[in-house]
Amino acid sequence: MISNRCKNIEPSEIRKIFNMATKDSINLGIGEPDFDTPQHIIDAAKKALDEGKTHYTPNSGIPELRESISNKLKNDNNLDIGPDNIITTCGASEALMLSLMAIVNKGEEVLISDPGFVSYKSLTQLCEAKPVSMKLDEEFNIDIEEIKTCITDKTKCIILNSPANPTGKVMDKSEIKAICDIAEDNNIIIISDEIYEKIIYDKKHYSPMEFTDNCILINGFSKAYAMTGWRIGYLAVNDNLNNEYDLIDNMIKIHQYGFACATSFAQYGALEALNGDQSCVYEMVKEFRRRRDLIVKGLKKLFKLTTPDGAFYVFPNVEEYGDGMEVAQKLIENKILCVPGVAFGDGGKYNIRFSYATKYEDIEKALEIMENIF
Ligand code: PMP
Repeated sequence: MISNRCKNIEPSEIRKIFNMATKDSINLGIGEPDFDTPQHIIDAAKKALDEGKTHYTPNSGIPELRESISNKLKNDNNLDIGPDNIITTCGASEALMLSLMAIVNKGEEVLISDPGFVSYKSLTQLCEAKPVSMKLDEEFNIDIEEIKTCITDKTKCIILNSPANPTGKVMDKSEIKAICDIAEDNNIIIISDEIYEKIIYDKKHYSPMEFTDNCILINGFSKAYAMTGWRIGYLAVNDNLNNEYDLIDNMIKIHQYGFACATSFAQYGALEALNGDQSCVYEMVKEFRRRRDLIVKGLKKLFKLTTPDGAFYVFPNVEEYGDGMEVAQKLIENKILCVPGVAFGDGGKYNIRFSYATKYEDIEKALEIMENIF
């Protein structure tokens, strides 16, 4: 019954971990903010419901949201992307899927960092394309020379993710520029997943689209505004790329048959997220920073660790005590939920991903338990 396309992909290891949770486990496995969505955003969606905004919207999303996303891209990222070059999607997840489905053929190659976010490999495989791993160095940098060696005449695109899940790494401007040059020299598209853009501590975020036309920019509301369940994200391409390939119209075909549109009233919530008071983002990031400092300080006593610059994950190397799977199992037995690094690729075999999107006091408790175990 089941298609090869589907059979060939594995269920996410992260879901399996959730299933092991007991009521009294401390959850350092979760990949979403623990905060509630800010009230003004909830109110805007409620108002939309009350006003009967419960019907299909245009496939690409309500015009005022796309206009606001266009303004955001101008103000935050210095990009000139008109509303017609933006599609509102059901989360960044759908935007990733549309991008890959629209440009990748069977047998073509997609460069993915290893370790990297779980969906990249599986979505590539769903497109019957081949994920090609780019190994990261000890501090989670992509080796520019390695990218060059990974490129073949079948390479179609490269997925970048800064700030990164699971490492928390933020790419430097020079690194991004160098990859943009490689993409242009080899006619490769960069799919840039910028979902953690706002959750960044000491560094500055740059989008590859600032340096190259060969880019599909993906972002969303899940992480910055604690809106994971709302399922709202977007993708954007600039005029040059769009005019060359009719990329938006092609992606809309997939979106319209698969999804029709993103949820109507959730789009009004997203509109308020962008146009309303941004202090909620500032407050959440301030708290994430406090937790990052706590968990980094505690884990550094036990494991080898690169301090994360963004997102809400830390990815220590636990080799001294076994591989990541063994250590994760030990932690889970001791009621600390975490994700073995191998879930993000072989490059994470000796790592564990801890999420600090959980209460400060719980992180303190977890560190205490870990100090007793190791
Ligand atoms: N990209 C990365 C790197 C992520 O970590 C996640 C969520 N875990 C997503 C995309 C998906 O985000 P969304 O909720 O917008 O689909």
